[in-house]
Amino acid sequence: MADVLVGIYGASGFGREVLPLVREQLKTTSAELVFVDDGDVPKVLNGYPVLRYDEFLESDAGEKKLVFAIANSAIREKLAAKCTKDGIRSLSVRADNTVILDEVDVGEGVILCHFTQLTSNIRIGKYFHANIYSYVAHDCVIGDYVTFAPSVRCNGNVVIEDHAYIGAGAVIKQGTPEKPLVIGKSAVVGMGAVVTKDVPPGVTVVGNPAKVFEPRKR
Ligand code: UDP
Repeated sequence: MADVLVGIYGASGFGREVLPLVREQLKTTSAELVFVDDGDVPKVLNGYPVLRYDEFLESDAGEKKLVFAIANSAIREKLAAKCTKDGIRSLSVRADNTVILDEVDVGEGVILCHFTQLTSNIRIGKYFHANIYSYVAHDCVIGDYVTFAPSVRCNGNVVIEDHAYIGAGAVIKQGTPEKPLVIGKSAVVGMGAVVTKDVPPGVTVVGNPAKVFEPRKR
């Protein structure tokens, strides 16, 4: 029986990137690692067993924890709620070269991948993902279930509301203490966008300077 069994929930692309971070983080402990996935995936991936959630629940272990390594924030929220109900705690993951400066407050269950930086005086909610090479600069406030793809550059005095998704290589202009730049709830910022002004909730913006994306009518 494992003293501690840690499940990486999601055995797809991101999960396979996150498992090595967890392995490194827990290398001085006796924790055992598995993937947890409810989809049609092999029983072993990259040398680690893949359990369905019900199998994970039934496993014999002193303590169980889960890392939610699924980029889709709505799925993350649904799975986190289910696991909390089942009494399973989340584990936060931080790559060994992540830089975190002063007065940074981070919620539960976040994943900070390699080469990510959180500078000073930042608040971040729960289940935030910062994929490789992303940064959050001074005085930003990030909500719950926010997702950064690789290389997101979030400059100072920016507010990002819950469930927003920021695409790879996007740049977000700095706000000011009096008027932070705000990215609204569940907004999507497209890959490579340069965001120079507030983004309303629920919309998708693309381009440089970023504008609301309206699919062409046929
Ligand atoms: N998944 C799951 N339970 C759910 C929803 C999704 O186990 O309720 C798994 C799904 O089977 C897939 C993974 O989560 O293996 C999500 O993979 P995807 O490629 O969509 O996303 P990414 O790895 O990029 O986050």
